[in-house]
Amino acid sequence: MERYDIAIIGTGPAGVSAALTAKNRNKRILLLGSRQMSEKVEKAHEIRNYPGLPFVKGEELAAAFRDQLDRMEIEITEKRIGAVYAMGDYFALQAGEEMPEAKAVILATGVASAKTLPGEEALLGRGVSYCATCDAPLYRGRTAAVIGYSPREESEAAFLSEVCSRVMYFPMYPEGPVLPDKVEVIREKPAEILKTEDGPTVVTAAGKYPADGVFVLREAVAPAQLVPGLETDGAHVKVNRRMETNLPGVFACGDITGTPYQYVKAAGEGNVAAISAAAYLDRRENRKE
Ligand SMILES: Cc1cc2nc3c(=O)[nH]c(=O)nc-3n(C[C@H](O)[C@H](O)[C@H](O)COP(=O)(O)OP(=O)(O)OC[C@H]3O[C@@H](n4cnc5c(N)ncnc54)[C@H](O)[C@@H]3O)c2cc1C
Repeated sequence: MERYDIAIIGTGPAGVSAALTAKNRNKRILLLGSRQMSEKVEKAHEIRNYPGLPFVKGEELAAAFRDQLDRMEIEITEKRIGAVYAMGDYFALQAGEEMPEAKAVILATGVASAKTLPGEEALLGRGVSYCATCDAPLYRGRTAAVIGYSPREESEAAFLSEVCSRVMYFPMYPEGPVLPDKVEVIREKPAEILKTEDGPTVVTAAGKYPADGVFVLREAVAPAQLVPGLETDGAHVKVNRRMETNLPGVFACGDITGTPYQYVKAAGEGNVAAISAAAYLDRRENRKE
């Protein structure tokens, strides 16, 4: 399997900026995210503080990011990363059924906007999952509950409906959802996930919904869950001025490192993270000689 120099997770301003700089430094990069770029970019009505692009609409900025990546021949791999594992001198990334490898990783996944549900973290890996593509085979022919925080998660629920005997979908947003008939849409707000004799159970004000597996799908996962051993401060990853984390070879940039949540700060940190990752790889190479 091809081992990349740098895997960059996230296609918001932080990840895009990191990718452009890493490419400039001649590194082989794997950029993971979405061709829609970032919900937080797309949804901005009008941005007044992005230098050089006055009063740009969010969707225009997203299109400009896409165009710049295309022109720099940087491909976006549309995969959701479930976990990053340190394997000694490289990292393995869980991307559905695939496990791409990289010598360094830049985390640019933004900040998880929603708090975890009571019971969610305790049951993670024991009935609660963050990745339908990764864990669907465990629930073949069984019942799944999906708590979806944005319409983007609907495709994951549709996929589960091909594998599971029953799928319940709890949309955490007002519009839609657009799903196969087989998926039961339950418009009730989950308050917690309980461990019961019937399996992990989604509890709402109106009822209890036992399942074999509960999938909690949101744009960003808490960083400590994404990378085991990563030092965090609440929802944020601890970094120094070089955007280095406590794990050698892992860098972080953008909203994930803390406030202020701003495009320019994210882009600036992406640039620093890529330069630091490139220097880390160069040092490593030189030591080998
Ligand atoms: C409505 C709105 C308006 C705003 N207006 C402004 C403004 O005018 N000026 C300003 O400076 N800031 C503004 N902000 C803040 C700004 O959006 C954020 O600070 C900025 O987007 C952060 O960039 P980021 O790259 O760190 O993260 P994000 O833009 O959140 O991007 C994160 C990326 O990571 C991807 N991702 C997450 N988890 C995974 C995973 N596990 N696997 C693969 N990919 C993953 C996501 O799909 C996304 O592509 C606004 C925010 C909102 C919501």
